[in-house]
Amino acid sequence: MFKEFNPNEKNFTDEASYLNKELENSYDSSVYNWKPGMVDEDGKMLKLRITKSTLTTYKFCPRMYYYQYVLGLKQEPTEAMTRGTNVHNVVEYFWKQIDEDVLKQLTQLLDEDKHMTAKGILREFMPKPEGGFLYDEDICLEQWFTWQWLRLLICYKDNTLEHWKAVGNEVEVHAMDEIEVEGQKVPLHYKGFIDRIFSDANGGFILMELKTGKWVNKPYKMSSMRFEMEFYKEILMKSQHMEFLPVTHWGWEYPYGQINGGDKADWIVEETKRLSTYASRSIANVRKKLVASHVNDDFPTVHSDKCKSTCRHLSNPCGWCSYYDICPAWNKIKEMTI
Ligand code: SF4
Repeated sequence: MFKEFNPNEKNFTDEASYLNKELENSYDSSVYNWKPGMVDEDGKMLKLRITKSTLTTYKFCPRMYYYQYVLGLKQEPTEAMTRGTNVHNVVEYFWKQIDEDVLKQLTQLLDEDKHMTAKGILREFMPKPEGGFLYDEDICLEQWFTWQWLRLLICYKDNTLEHWKAVGNEVEVHAMDEIEVEGQKVPLHYKGFIDRIFSDANGGFILMELKTGKWVNKPYKMSSMRFEMEFYKEILMKSQHMEFLPVTHWGWEYPYGQINGGDKADWIVEETKRLSTYASRSIANVRKKLVASHVNDDFPTVHSDKCKSTCRHLSNPCGWCSYYDICPAWNKIKEMTI
């Protein structure tokens, strides 16, 4: 069992917030294991629930999606997952502590050239569990903190300290939609948690995602991040979260990007303008296939007999898939019953 750490009073998933009653009702009538014509016990039509994770899992492998979300088979927790959870909890806590009073105090200390005191105050907002972290969370958090500190110094110098602070922290967003697939209208409910939202200082907003895995500066990694960020941008627009619109930029930070042979710890911020069009097409494509899988009750495996012995699925994603032992692509069940 891995040791989780959460300095927040409540887990962000326990603090449900909907924009209005209609969205709350829509969420309550949405399920992951949706089938055509499915109704609840009162005869009310149910919707298919879509999140960033369901879309990205389906994109990796429709069968993996089927096991995880349609059948609800839980994945075994791993060290990497626990590191991710613990780092996210501490970063969420950090931003919750930054208010106007803290900003005033920091400004005053920086005015007086007391940089180390200011840095020390900020560091106090990153608590540790008794006995310390166990899964390299501190390496990850140290890098993340360094970036925030440097960004703070730049904002102070530019007299824009108010834009250093996140304006949204673990923002829960819900939205409704309906799409037509194979002649059927399918009602959808989207749910997402946006790690952080910042002001772009010109009336627009920057969506920021924190990752604790490895970073490789390759086109496939860039497009997978743009896919995730576009999902958030679209649900903010669909649900009319005007306080965070327009989204002009998105970005991601990988403070432990060097892990598992990754390139290095890195962060990237991009203008959404041109990139959004391509990412939006990609989302629409995956969403359509995902809904068609539900309509046809067909969730194919990404790996098949036709793959060569050197196929990339041997290591990614099959290599780390929790469902490898029950997946028909690998004939394990067949072998066991012969
Ligand atoms: S083992 Fe491979 S093909 Fe099978 S569910 Fe997992 S990722 Fe998909």
